[in-house]
Amino acid sequence: AIPLVASISTSISAQNGLLIRNRTAFESSRKISTIVFDKTGTLTKGSHEITRIVSLHSDYTETELLTYAAAVESPSEHHIAKGLARKAKEDKLDIPSVTDFKYTAGVGVNGKVNGKEVHAGGNMLLEKMNETVDKDEKEGVETKVFTFVEGELIGFITFADEIRESSFDAIKTLHDHNIKASLLTGDNEIVAKDVADKLGLDDYMAEVLPDQKLEKIKELQAQDEFVAMVGDGVNDAPALAQADVGIAIGSGTDVAAETADIVLMDSDPKDIVNLILFGKATYQKMV
Ligand code: ADP
Ligand code: MG
Repeated sequence: AIPLVASISTSISAQNGLLIRNRTAFESSRKISTIVFDKTGTLTKGSHEITRIVSLHSDYTETELLTYAAAVESPSEHHIAKGLARKAKEDKLDIPSVTDFKYTAGVGVNGKVNGKEVHAGGNMLLEKMNETVDKDEKEGVETKVFTFVEGELIGFITFADEIRESSFDAIKTLHDHNIKASLLTGDNEIVAKDVADKLGLDDYMAEVLPDQKLEKIKELQAQDEFVAMVGDGVNDAPALAQADVGIAIGSGTDVAAETADIVLMDSDPKDIVNLILFGKATYQKMV
């Protein structure tokens, strides 16, 4: 049976841009009871269109805020960075270069722009910088990026992302097969809850750091769940390694791909589900 199975999975590999790095893990996919999804770029499109640019500092206009944010984000591969770059180009802005760029997983980025230290990131950065903003400034189903210059909060930019059409079907199919689906995201609580509610997920956790993603997988395993994790980012790598079946997707980072058992070239959640069901059907009989 092995050569046949090997040839089948090799041929779907060729068709679907699929790389099985750990065959044993793939063969165990029949046991999966829970799939944990990363949100951004997995269940959602990662489209990140800018919806608002809000200056909170009298010395900085909205254009300057956008310029600093786009500059410090320019080396980043995150959807947020791509959204900023698109908008800056549209507005024909001159974006200065950044030096000493650093990315902190789950928090954001920082670097020197025009000789000034600039930070950009979400709620976790806000906490780290000991800043708060008014509750209604924080509310709304949006991903927010706060920007700091020389340690001072100068404003924030909001992004809208869309749930992929195929995510709805994918989650429904999993439920039909008695597989639970949950969400682990570094994004804020409001966005996470919105996606979880709309897709009817069994569970979600927001504002999680990479080690917390890992801990959550361990927790599920301790509850006798056989866990698949799907992710694309640097912040997903520890969790992908811990999961019983780690699946890296799409345009994701190399770090994610190198830790995963399975790599899928495109990021369609439906393909992930089909792959798992294929694994289930194929290896069911082989125990
Ligand atoms: P997830 O894929 O789990 O949703 P992300 O990789 O998007 O997590 O990162 C989680 C959070 O960290 C983001 O929602 C954002 O607040 C912050 N973050 C990550 N990368 C950046 C970046 N390049 N610029 C600003 N914030 C970032
Ligand atoms: Mg991600």
